[in-house]
Amino acid sequence: MSRKQPATCMDEFDPHARTVEQALAHIRALTQPLRGMERVFLRDALDRVLARDVPARMDVPPERNAAMDGYAFAGRDLGAGGETRLRLAGQSLAGHPFTGTLGPGECVRIMTGAVVPEGADSVIMQERVEVRGETVVLPAGTGQGENVRLPGQDVRRGDVVLATGRRINAADVGLLASQGIAEVDVVRRPVVAYFSTGDELCGVGQPLAPGQIYDSNRHTLYALLRRMNVEIRDMGVIPDEPEAIVAAFTEARNTADMVITTGGVSVGDADYVKQTLEQLGRIDFWKIAMKPGRPLAFGRLGDALFFGLPGNPVSTMATFILFVRPALQRLMGMEPQAPLTLRARCLNRLRKVPGRTDYQRGILSQDETGRPVVSTTGLQGSHVLSSMSRANAFIVIPREAGDVEEGAEVDVMPLEGLL
Ligand code: AMP
Ligand code: MG
Repeated sequence: MSRKQPATCMDEFDPHARTVEQALAHIRALTQPLRGMERVFLRDALDRVLARDVPARMDVPPERNAAMDGYAFAGRDLGAGGETRLRLAGQSLAGHPFTGTLGPGECVRIMTGAVVPEGADSVIMQERVEVRGETVVLPAGTGQGENVRLPGQDVRRGDVVLATGRRINAADVGLLASQGIAEVDVVRRPVVAYFSTGDELCGVGQPLAPGQIYDSNRHTLYALLRRMNVEIRDMGVIPDEPEAIVAAFTEARNTADMVITTGGVSVGDADYVKQTLEQLGRIDFWKIAMKPGRPLAFGRLGDALFFGLPGNPVSTMATFILFVRPALQRLMGMEPQAPLTLRARCLNRLRKVPGRTDYQRGILSQDETGRPVVSTTGLQGSHVLSSMSRANAFIVIPREAGDVEEGAEVDVMPLEGLL
């Protein structure tokens, strides 16, 4: 329990609101990595999370090989000052090594990636030599030991190539392949069930009745969850009716590792969403000192984690990115990392009320000198979903800050890879 703090001008906005950091810490404490794992083919490992360390089975490269096309020779054959004449003894091609051993005064033609033969320790690039029949002339000043890639220079046998908790990216798939690894053990994908609540919501493809709006959140959530590569259970729209809500929560709790709803967590909302949640699980209703996305419900519904996101579409997305994403990462066995932020010069004056952290929608680009600049997308209401679509970054304005002056430096969180 936190002690009651004396009121200051900073929490004037809402003294009971939690900060983003407090909410994150609480969510983290309640989120345990999933235990199940499965073995998948290399090709299916992309965006999965490793359940075990992968040790290197072998040195890469496995043998000494040439870094360029040229001639392999022994450094001890180099003349003291002038040029060096060597006898061409054969060739070493990629996949077709020279089988003999290099004798004194000999060299072999060698191609990039081909094994450097026994007796040789250097490669000279082909453009630097002169070939006269069977004689290769190396110029004065030719270096010894150059252009040879050594075994294990890339990866050493026994080293951990990729560690538990690593989310596998395109480079990792290649790295595993370079070890000859065809299958890896990954954490099972979390099952995420979600639904929208609200009597005003209409499904896409249906005609709108008066007073209705289309349910966009469920589709945004679908897309955000796809990006996270989880198992998706779309449970549709649940009307604001007690029986329907109880049934939906009960089903979700029994089938999912995480349940997400949107809407119905604001102060004025039909109380039975809260009642149902309190009855079926251990849920806290938080006001978070942030904009957009103030109300957030979080807790456990049976064995499942529960997030009740606010209904306003921008709030839904912001709370997903800030809170749901790291919780999912932790479920998947990753160590959640705060999204990267950078400093940029703000091209507009921004309105901001002290007391809450703002995540304003911005367009990040570069000025003529290559330095980062950011401009606002315009209207910042949490219902303005087009602001999220136009944005490629959040402009993060600290809780205690007020308006941002044009030209001021601000923190910017790029949304690349998050949307
Ligand atoms: P609520 O959190 O239920 O009070 O909803 C806040 C605002 O978000 C209201 O204007 C709702 O109409 C809107 N809203 C709620 N759910 C959705 C949804 N699934 N898609 C689009 N807008 C929604
Ligand atoms: Mg509602």
